Amino acid sequence: MRVTGRVLVLGGTGEARRLATGLDAEGVDVLSSLAGRVADPALPPGGVRIGGFGGADGLVAWLRANPVRAVVDATHPFAAVMTASAARAAEVTGVPLLRLQRPGWRAQPGDDWRWVGSLEEAAEAVAGFARVFLTTGRSGLAAFAGLTQEVLVRSVDPPEPPLPARTTVVLERGPFSVADELALLREHRVDVVVTKDSGGHLTEAKLTAARELGVPVVLVRRPPLPPGVPTVATVEEATAWVLRHV
Ligand code: NAP
Repeated sequence: MRVTGRVLVLGGTGEARRLATGLDAEGVDVLSSLAGRVADPALPPGGVRIGGFGGADGLVAWLRANPVRAVVDATHPFAAVMTASAARAAEVTGVPLLRLQRPGWRAQPGDDWRWVGSLEEAAEAVAGFARVFLTTGRSGLAAFAGLTQEVLVRSVDPPEPPLPARTTVVLERGPFSVADELALLREHRVDVVVTKDSGGHLTEAKLTAARELGVPVVLVRRPPLPPGVPTVATVEEATAWVLRHV
């Protein structure tokens, strides 16, 4: 099939990489955009640009200077600033925008999940636990800086201060198996896990491990999606949407 016109994928997720890979294979000229947070990012095929646009206005200016047929916002469910900028820029420029967001996690029998609305509330929810495993990512750790118990932090790149006083850092990039997660939780005698409701299979092994060990999980709810932006949950649906726009 012959396709014309460029598509911008706002990335930083496995779904964005899979979308770019599939579109590239379909002959679509795809440009993936990454924030530039990770030192050695996994790069998708096709074009790649790295770094912020300069807010919604910056993205508007970028879209005017670099016309594209469509934009897919495949950023992480918690990348709410980028998602809001994309919605605003699409509204201003009239460029079709799709939100690709994987479904959130669902509790299963045996889970002891405690939902909170923010990282700050998560920090309050772990009071009374002795050994906390933070899997919330490097940004946002400041919300937990006041914790006095043992804190295990796992992130891809080294976290920056402020960190809790008794922090152990594990530098690792997922995916992690259930066996990996069971071993880590046991080794550090974790008694509560804190995570954002990122959803997806790549990082859900920790939830399975917590269930098996009877460890409670504090989950941070997702930020709301901007109104009026069509949203799909799968890479396949996003691919079909793009192919209708090129
Ligand atoms: P955010 O708070 O929504 O975005 C902050 C700023 O980073 C945005 O205003 C934008 O800068 C820039 N930015 C974010 N995503 C971008 C992209 N794909 N391309 C170009 N610029 C981008 O986002 P975040 O939570 O810091 O996440 C940053 C990146 O990491 C995202 O791409 C996201 O998909 C990925 N990620 C985030 C998480 C998480 O838990 N938040 C987890 C895994 C991966 P300007 O305003 O200058 O345009």
